[in-house]
Amino acid sequence: ESFDKMGLKENLLRGIYAYGFERPSAIQQRGIVPFCKGLDVIQQAQSGTGKTATFCSGILQQLNYEVVQCQALVLAPTRELAQQIEKVMRALGDYLGVKVHACVGGTSSLRSDYIRMFVLDEADEMLSRGFKDQIYDIFQHLPPKIQVGVFSATMPPEALEITRKFLNKPVRILV
Ligand code: AMP
Repeated sequence: ESFDKMGLKENLLRGIYAYGFERPSAIQQRGIVPFCKGLDVIQQAQSGTGKTATFCSGILQQLNYEVVQCQALVLAPTRELAQQIEKVMRALGDYLGVKVHACVGGTSSLRSDYIRMFVLDEADEMLSRGFKDQIYDIFQHLPPKIQVGVFSATMPPEALEITRKFLNKPVRILV
């Protein structure tokens, strides 16, 4: 398998290879293409499997680069993870002219009108840290019918409930 056969933008491929990735991991092989098609996805994957580059590639592939407003939002349980995601998104998007910002520490205000893609990373971890109400709150503030990706090592009942409530005919990928 190869990144070349996924139909990715030339400048996204450049970012992927420049970051040092040569071949897609198992989750990337199965997850990038459905995400790039705009489908809702549930990916049950541990950290260390390459999940970050899966959703970063999917987002970077689908952004409209003629629009300056925020089009994608990724939610993560910790500041460190948010910053790690920011780093990967920025590196893979290096040749695309993308703007990436990690909102940590309760600082930022965000306009949600243009958001079309939403990812919950480590959903089980967010739930076990008591962020359920915040997650639901954010869903309420996002436009309807956006693409949603849920990444989680385990699928506790609260995570399943989220997928049932907010995802539309999701593709399930278990790695
Ligand atoms: P993650 O599961 O997203 O936390 O990624 C785990 C580690 O695997 C990170 O250090 C990534 O840089 C690395 N990684 C992800 N995808 C690939 C790939 N296709 N080839 C080589 N390393 C990768």
